[in-house]
Amino acid sequence: MSGLGLKAAKAHMRDAAGDQKPRKENPAMPLQTLATTLAVAERDGYAVGAFNVSDLNQATAVLDAARTERSPVIVQAIAGTSAYGDESWWWHMLRTIVESYTDVTATLHLDHGRTVEDCVRAMDHGFTSVMIDASRSTEDDEPNDFESNVAITKSVVDIAHARGVSVEGEVGTIGGAEAGITGVLEEIVYADPSQAEEFVARTGVDALAVAVGTSHGSVKFTDESGGQRLRINLIAEIKNRLPYTSLVLHGSSSIPIDAVEAINKKGGSVTPSYGIDAAQKQAGIAHGIRKINQGTDSHLAWTAALRTELSERPSEVEPSSAIAAAMFGMTQIVRVRMREFGSAGQTR
Ligand SMILES: [Zn+2]
Repeated sequence: MSGLGLKAAKAHMRDAAGDQKPRKENPAMPLQTLATTLAVAERDGYAVGAFNVSDLNQATAVLDAARTERSPVIVQAIAGTSAYGDESWWWHMLRTIVESYTDVTATLHLDHGRTVEDCVRAMDHGFTSVMIDASRSTEDDEPNDFESNVAITKSVVDIAHARGVSVEGEVGTIGGAEAGITGVLEEIVYADPSQAEEFVARTGVDALAVAVGTSHGSVKFTDESGGQRLRINLIAEIKNRLPYTSLVLHGSSSIPIDAVEAINKKGGSVTPSYGIDAAQKQAGIAHGIRKINQGTDSHLAWTAALRTELSERPSEVEPSSAIAAAMFGMTQIVRVRMREFGSAGQTR
């Protein structure tokens, strides 16, 4: 992650252009629902990365990666988390930019909707998929009881399915900090397979986030590297009970040490920690994981590249090279993840 500057800007534009065919040979693909995208992934045995974006440059970086890798992609945003003051404008622009990539198979997804209203607002802005995270109370952030989770999730499913929108729910409680969520949960409450089965039967969700050993945020596990975090047997057991439901991994960034070190070398202060390595994610995919959320890794890459560029060109005030460097850093790590998940090359 050395100074990228104008070289990065050019490389970014070149990569973004890829070997794209003229538009007339690529009839526009409408945005896909999560159910459609993950059904194809299920059939062909890979997982689709879901990348959090909080501004239009990040959305561009993710979509450029998808174009270059010919990979389906899930672009996701969290309510209340963006660079802009006007969420309605942001979501409208986000939908517009995703649609402008007419050659990319893309789903626009709301990550961690906390209320029915969050989800409906996203549907009103053209999101083709929403997550309702009713696993915890919006009042005190403590785990919700199962019946409340079922009731809230079911009401979102009823509204969403009537509008042709997919829904992801969550059982168990994934530990760590989540953007847009104030509390920090220390504990992972592992998903219970029989409860997962009942949850899907009663709510009708298309996809299910399962707490199987991952943790949210940039500081994950501080004990020694190489630890087995994912409970593969638990994934397999849930999948066995839910063969037609797409399972989702949250909090599963790998936390690349080079990005953490680059940030800290340039004045940052990120506690080094261990994430979920690629091999564990691939084992999860082999046992039924079809959507993998990767918020933190791409944000680490973005921040590392931005800090490096600003630091190494201290007299530069025109921002385009710094923004391009950040986009390039993010695009590159998203591309790596798409290859690791087996989604690269799946868009024909
Ligand atoms: Zn999450």
